[in-house]
Amino acid sequence: MLYTVDGLVLQAKNYGENDKLVTILTADGKQTLIAKGVRSMKSKYKNITEPFVYANFELNQKGSAIAWIKGGSSIEIFYNLREDVGKLFLATYVCDVANELSGERVECKDMLRLTLNTLYAIMNDLRPLSQIKAVFEMRAAAISGYCPNLDYCEECENENAELTYFDITNGALICSECLNRRGQIVKKNLSLAYDDIRERNVLIPLTPASRSAIRFSIGAPAEKIFSFSLSEAEDLKTFSKACEEYLLYHLGHGFDSLDLYHSIL
Ligand SMILES: [Zn+2]
Repeated sequence: MLYTVDGLVLQAKNYGENDKLVTILTADGKQTLIAKGVRSMKSKYKNITEPFVYANFELNQKGSAIAWIKGGSSIEIFYNLREDVGKLFLATYVCDVANELSGERVECKDMLRLTLNTLYAIMNDLRPLSQIKAVFEMRAAAISGYCPNLDYCEECENENAELTYFDITNGALICSECLNRRGQIVKKNLSLAYDDIRERNVLIPLTPASRSAIRFSIGAPAEKIFSFSLSEAEDLKTFSKACEEYLLYHLGHGFDSLDLYHSIL
């Protein structure tokens, strides 16, 4: 069967003597393709099998076997991502996360759009890289079903508490008053549980602006997610830390590409 599909190359691995296995993200899910002979000089579709290339792929597939690339044309190659090592590592991490959070034959329209918009934002310096990264992490987590609720304190339901903490473990907000109360009660009644709670729940203190930034990243329309600024360095730092910790906590592991990004930025 011959067909075409629009997809973003998330990963390309050498396979056999001259071939590559290419993982693409499409609106209908993740798909692994074989690019035969693509590592030879003569290959005419070499340019569309590189990471970060968004292309229209012409595919051939027999039954349920792996589809192979017959040809295609690029829609956007995000060329500039390869010119700056910080951008390159961040773009690789973004694709690694998208790869992990996408499935085969499941709708991935939102994840595809988010990933493309994020690569575009990185390439064009729409915002500081740490902000783009954090927005992507929080939105990717929310799309994948790990949506935190930071609208009000999980215990007293106060929406306007000054000092709040992001309860990473439970994807919730807790105000400083409730946290103190919880600590005191537990401390008074059962000293063992105090340590238990502190160790079990990962809590990050939030500034009001970083809390708003997280809420915006979750709820804003897809085309507007990067359209805000954090003027204070402390707010951006807190926002970045909270989003990364939250995503990694729920995925349960880190990424080599993220370590590389942090090794230089
Ligand atoms: Zn409270």
